[in-house]
Amino acid sequence: MQTFKRLIKYLLVIAFPKPEGCLLCGMAASGTGRRIAQLCLRCEQRFTFHTEICSLCGRQWTEEMADGDHCSFTDDERVCGDCLRRTIHDLILSRSAVVYNKPVKDLLSLYKFRGDRMLAPVLAFFLVYAYNKYYGSGGVAVPDLITYIPVHQSRLEERTFNQAEELAALLGATVGIPVMALLEKTKATDKQSRKTRKDRLHALDYAFCFKPPEPGHITNDELLQKPELDILLVDDVYTTGSTLHEAARVLKHSLPHASVYGLTVAR
Ligand SMILES: [Zn+2]
Ligand SMILES: [Zn+2]
Repeated sequence: MQTFKRLIKYLLVIAFPKPEGCLLCGMAASGTGRRIAQLCLRCEQRFTFHTEICSLCGRQWTEEMADGDHCSFTDDERVCGDCLRRTIHDLILSRSAVVYNKPVKDLLSLYKFRGDRMLAPVLAFFLVYAYNKYYGSGGVAVPDLITYIPVHQSRLEERTFNQAEELAALLGATVGIPVMALLEKTKATDKQSRKTRKDRLHALDYAFCFKPPEPGHITNDELLQKPELDILLVDDVYTTGSTLHEAARVLKHSLPHASVYGLTVAR
């Protein structure tokens, strides 16, 4: 009898599989997102995918930006005011998938601060999407390796994981590019978003140091001997750009021949 009941249960599960809900709102699978398999269409539409962008920082280009004096643009190249004002160019350029709007902020905080790791594939989707659009066959560069923005040990103990490392690992596994830790966070900095823009621009000075590749990976000498070395630096979000630019400066200090590019979920 028990076996019969179990068999019926088994057949029912096969005939009526439990619908996999949207990871954000829990709604059933009907009308799943066009691009993001784990989200319903309604949730997916809350994200704004980049179309026209600044050629350097990858921010969405708006009409107001084109009207201002502090930018330069031709038919195929646009550079925003922030990028024109930048004097150090260790980071060649950066790309992101979506605009840093409220739905992305909510998604990132659920993932980073509430530790909802189920959301990792959704965030990794955005990285893979932007990677395929701009890097790889997208034209900018095919990186030799992927690295990521580290977190300070004290932050790691508090959050238990580094979001940039997890997302970089998922990206690397999907696009088939090795991922390695090349940076260490040596200065515990306060949350960037609580500061003014000026404070944010300098808070990260000397916050990172270069970490030679671990045994088993490529050696530091091998990295230095490569005639060309394209490194893709991953983080969750590009706001002022200070984090990516400072990390790129540190990478180039130890690997002067490297070209460093950025990739984030949102900008
Ligand atoms: Zn939804
Ligand atoms: Zn820009």
